[in-house]
Amino acid sequence: MRIVLVGPPGAGKGTQAAFLAKNLSIPHISTGDLFRANISQQTELGKLAKSYMDAGNLVPDEVTIGMAKDRMEKPDAENGFLLDGFPRNVSQAEALDEMLQSESMKLDAVLDLEVPKEEVVKRIAGRRICRRDSSHVFHVTYSQPKKEGVCDVCGGELYQRDDDSQETVRKRLDVYHTQTEPIIDYYKARGLVVTVSAVGTVEDVTTCVMEALKPDEDGK
Ligand code: ADP
Repeated sequence: MRIVLVGPPGAGKGTQAAFLAKNLSIPHISTGDLFRANISQQTELGKLAKSYMDAGNLVPDEVTIGMAKDRMEKPDAENGFLLDGFPRNVSQAEALDEMLQSESMKLDAVLDLEVPKEEVVKRIAGRRICRRDSSHVFHVTYSQPKKEGVCDVCGGELYQRDDDSQETVRKRLDVYHTQTEPIIDYYKARGLVVTVSAVGTVEDVTTCVMEALKPDEDGK
């Protein structure tokens, strides 16, 4: 399966993506994670991306599209992938189409995780992420780790992302609204969008997502 995951920052894309990828045996490709890996390895790409990310802006398409393409061309993505955070604007969506068409491939679904704005700000402000594995996510009030600052799953150090400050979150939401939301209409026109409410426990959302991705009775 080839799936694109969209939703505002804080919708829980990373959490759901990790679960889904495992369940469907496809790689989870997160452009945000790829950028963060480049930042921690201090590559040129990382240095460039950091300035945009910290300001809550999108990293320029020339850089992002090439990075996403390289990742999608790896052998593990041959039979499917779950894209998280890419495409993030219409020109990236068009670039993805071209890439897929040239390989005679197509997307199966675009999963749109919906969450109210106020909820997003609350979620992100208290979010803490494991340095070892970004799918291990906690929250200072909603989902506290047993020991402060330590990941329950693997013992890694928990930290707050540089772009999770209140001010940057507002900017990211703004960017989401103006640049990313239009891709939902772009994919709706092709009947690919499945919308799922991302409010509720992680397990509730996961159940709804799996249900939404089940083929229709007519096999579509
Ligand atoms: P979130 O969805 O919570 O905002 P991500 O980890 O997906 O977080 O992305 C963090 C930041 O990385 C974005 O705000 C943006 O600066 C950059 N980024 C990630 N994916 C893309 C993309 N496809 N195009 C441009 N910038 C991106």
